[in-house]
Amino acid sequence: MKDFIDDDKIQHVLDISVRPEKKRVEDVLDKAKELKGLTPEETSVLLQTEDKELINEILITARFVKESIYGNRLVLFAPLYIANHCSNNCLYCGFRRANKELKRVALTMEEIAAEAQAIEAEGHKRILMLCGEHPTRSSLDYFIEAIETVYATTNFNGEIRRINVEVAPLEVEEFKRLKAAK
Ligand code: SF4
Repeated sequence: MKDFIDDDKIQHVLDISVRPEKKRVEDVLDKAKELKGLTPEETSVLLQTEDKELINEILITARFVKESIYGNRLVLFAPLYIANHCSNNCLYCGFRRANKELKRVALTMEEIAAEAQAIEAEGHKRILMLCGEHPTRSSLDYFIEAIETVYATTNFNGEIRRINVEVAPLEVEEFKRLKAAK
């Protein structure tokens, strides 16, 4: 996979919004209240604001945006870890490849179905499915099969209506396959 992160562009966006003037911050907040999103440069303006009063305005605006879009809704989901093999080595994570004490497991489809039924039995309707990054033990094919297994799994309490995912970086065609899984 080619590197799609443009370091120079990100640095430029950060550089042009260092110590933003009050008026600039207020303009960005006014735009945020329109609920149509912000550009990376506008987001950088807010992130680099140090004035305490303006930071308070950012918090007030963030609450306004959140409540306008989501209201007083709380959404719960149950995490479902289907495999813990990983070829990466993030220091904070127990799945990191250097962790030799971890017993590595990739659940079978039968085990994933059983986990889904247990989650459903608790009344959950939403799952966050995730695994480590590994080209063979946590392949996209495996992940898609797991999604299809969960959606096909029902019991007396209802069905899983939504599966959110955390996956390794994908190509556009791979994202399309993931989106089509049901
Ligand atoms: S599972 Fe994710 S966070 Fe953990 S080591 Fe692998 S890539 Fe890093």
